[in-house]
Parts: sequence; C-alpha cells; structure tokens
Amino acid sequence: MGEVVIIGGGVTGIQAALDLAGHGITVHLVEREPSIGGHMAQLDKTFPTNDCSMCILSPKMYEVSQNPNIRIHTCTEVTGITGERGHFRVHIRKNPRYVDEETCNGCGDCIRICPVEVYNRFDAGIGVRKAIYKPHPQVIPDIVIKDAEHCIECGLCYDVCGRDAIRKEDAPSESVIEAVSIIIASGYEVFDAGQKEQYGYLRFPDVITSLEFERMMNASGPTMGSIRRLSDGATPRHVVFIQCVGSRDIPLGRPYCSGVCCMYAIKNAMLIREKYPETDVTLLYMDVRAYGKGYEEYYERSKALGVRFLRGMAAEVIANRTGMAIRVENTENEQMEEIHPDLVILSVGLGPAYDSAALADHMGIPVEDTGFFRSLDNKINCVATVKPGIYIAGASVSPKDIPDSVAQAQAAAMRAFIDVTMQDC
Ligand SMILES: Cc1cc2nc3c(=O)[nH]c(=O)nc-3n(C[C@H](O)[C@H](O)[C@H](O)COP(=O)(O)OP(=O)(O)OC[C@H]3O[C@@H](n4cnc5c(N)ncnc54)[C@H](O)[C@@H]3O)c2cc1C
Repeated sequence: MGEVVIIGGGVTGIQAALDLAGHGITVHLVEREPSIGGHMAQLDKTFPTNDCSMCILSPKMYEVSQNPNIRIHTCTEVTGITGERGHFRVHIRKNPRYVDEETCNGCGDCIRICPVEVYNRFDAGIGVRKAIYKPHPQVIPDIVIKDAEHCIECGLCYDVCGRDAIRKEDAPSESVIEAVSIIIASGYEVFDAGQKEQYGYLRFPDVITSLEFERMMNASGPTMGSIRRLSDGATPRHVVFIQCVGSRDIPLGRPYCSGVCCMYAIKNAMLIREKYPETDVTLLYMDVRAYGKGYEEYYERSKALGVRFLRGMAAEVIANRTGMAIRVENTENEQMEEIHPDLVILSVGLGPAYDSAALADHMGIPVEDTGFFRSLDNKINCVATVKPGIYIAGASVSPKDIPDSVAQAQAAAMRAFIDVTMQDC
C-alpha cells in the first residue's frame, strides 16, 4: 500500500498521522526539531476549557511513538520534492543528533553530569538547559540530543553513558521517501517582539512575550509555574497585556488578525487572577475577537474574575528607576490614562514557519502575501493546494487555534487516505 509524508510534527501533523495510521496506512512524520509536539507542547493550559495542554497532547505523542504504521523522523528537514500524486519522491536530510537513537534509553545520566548551561529555546529563552539535553521532560522520541555548538568536550557524558550512545562525531544523512501524498503541517512562528521597539522587549526585563509567559505558568517550566518578574523574582502586583503585537499592523506588513491572541490572553489573564487574586490584570486591546464555541462565555467569565479590559493601544512602554509606565487613550471615554504595570506581556501574533517559502518552492505550490500556504480555495477546498496530492493543514495555512487545526488535520488525512486507496484500486 502507498505511503504518506507529513511535514511538521505539531498537533496538526500528529492528528493527521494518527488518523492515517489508524486506517492501516504507513506514515512518515518529518519534524525538524528533536521532538514532535510543536507549539502545543510549550503551552500551559488551553482555552476555552483551561485543560492542561500536555495532558491532552502527551498521550497522542506517545500513541504516535507506539504505532507501528508511523515512522518518526526527528531533526529532519525536507530538501527537495519531485514527482506527482502517487509517485512523489521526498528528499530528506537528517541533521546530526550526536546520539545513537537506537541505543539511547533517555535515562538522563548525561544531562545530570553535563556542566554547561545555555538558554533553552523550548522555554522561549527564559529557562536554561544543558549542552546535552531533552528540550522538555515529555519528548518523543524519549532520547537526548547533544548541542555540538555549546559542548565543551569535557568527556563526562561519554564516561557516564553505560550504553555508549553518545557520539563525538556525527554528520547529516540524506535519504528519499516515496509517497502517494504529502501533508504540510509546518505550523507557525511567533512574531519577533523586538521589532516593536516602543514596547521595550529585551530592553526591559519585565516585558515578556505571551509564549515566554506560557512557559512561566507551566509547572514543568523554568519557574515551576510561579509568576515572577525576571528583574527581581518578585510576584507582580499589576500585569498588563498588550494585544496585537505583530498583528493587524499594516506598516509592519502584517495586516491580518492572528486569531488566537485575544483568547490566549484572556486565558492567561484569568489564570493570573485565579492564582494571585491580589494581582490586578489589565488587557489593552483594539477589539476582543471571541468567535469560537464557548469563547464569548469564556470572555465574560474573565470579566467576572476581575480582569480589566481597556480599549486602547499602548503608544509605548517607558521605564525608569521607579518602574514602568504606559500611557494609553481609553477609546471608550476618550480619556488619557497612565498605568504602572510591574509585568508587561506582549501578545505576539503568528506568522508562517520560517522556511515555508523554501518548502513551497520545493513543492511548486504558492504562498499568500502573508507567507502562509495558499489553499486551492478558501471556502470549500481549504486543505487542497494547486498541486494534486499535496495538502495543507493547521497553522501553516493561517493562524489557527487547536480545535480548528485538528479539524483541518483530519480533513487533510481523509484526502490523503482517498489518494492512497484510489491508487490501490
Ligand atoms: C502564546 C500562545 C498561546 C496559545 N494558546 C492556545 C490555547 O490555549 N488554545 C488553542 O486552541 N490554541 C492556542 N494557541 C495556538 C496553538 O499553538 C496552535 O493552534 C497550534 O500549535 C497549531 O498547531 P500546528 O501543528 O498547526 O503548528 P505548530 O504547533 O507550530 O507545529 C508545527 C510543527 O512543524 C515543525 N516544522 C515547521 N517547519 C518544518 C519543516 N520545514 N520541516 C519539518 N518540520 C517543520 C515545527 O518544528 C513544529 O513542530 C496558542 C498560541 C500561542 C502563540
């Protein structure tokens, strides 16, 4: 029976892989990071139910690892695609992990002994990891990776590894997968908040992004779930969310709404009020977009919990020795207000994965002006592309929340399933 390649192992790719594998189809799940999971693995809770994100995702990740019909290719990128529906040849490059994937059992002895600490990208830069590491405790595959750039070759990890799994040298390896269909599920990248200089990101330690805040809220994150100011470790007394950072911003070339920021900010505002009832929370916004099932009710709940919604966009965040200040026009009463937060969270928008243009080029399919993949038709054919047999799903198509990403994953999996079964007829 024909096989399917899925590019991107976030919740979209995972769902599509499980659906296809459940119908007996062999799937190759290609993920450039050392673990599958995507952004959902970084989140703390999920709107609109406040369920723990990993409690939903982790069983699916494990199911993927145990399914005999799914081959996981981590640290792997697509370098070229040739052929057409039924006969695609997907060229992949596996980047060095410096660890034997078959031999490593993920025991973590090497991590404990490693003396080098560097910033952990998985913790969005606010936590540290070792030079040999797992990005987070629930990685799949459950093995380590050595960061050759920061490794000082002290030799301690080689000595402690009872299985001789760690390699001094490793090199990329190239191979080709033959596939009937391809599903692109390469997701998104968050906006680089440094581009909005007026908000002081990276200049002021207590201005952080929403993704950093997700890691801070997470019990297995760098602060073990407690909300702290990065400057002095104190619990903030007034948190301000600034919405639409890198969204609905025409001068910046990002005119579109990122779709999820209102809801994730409401979620986090609510979680702060629940955990620290004495902390004030203000959300500065243009419009609140709570369009999904149960979302408007969720928004109302946050107001009942005491979250203040102030309609107006912050001109800038200023800071001096006494703290931070934001001047904002309240557009509901046209009064200027000055607020004094001690933690500012920038609700960063979603953009396409950094290499989507290159991926689109390999496939011969177009991207939108925004950089997201273009559907054949945005109304009734949104997971198809101009190229038969190549499907797109999830946040690689446009900013999307988890329920919508999963629905598209299932639609794309069904289209690929039809291709495989038609070919076998
Ligand atoms: C701060 C924040 C909070 C959020 N909170 C919520 C919430 O509470 N509820 C909710 O419903 N949604 C929330 N979201 C949105 C949610 O993150 C997305 O809906 C979801 O992650 C989309 O999944 P995806 O698999 O399409 O993309 P991603 O999660 O981005 O996964 C894509 C995967 O593809 C991989 N990849 C990319 N390019 C390549 C390539 N060329 N080759 C191989 N692999 C590649 C990436 O490494 C990644 O693993 C939030 C978003 C943010 C920023």
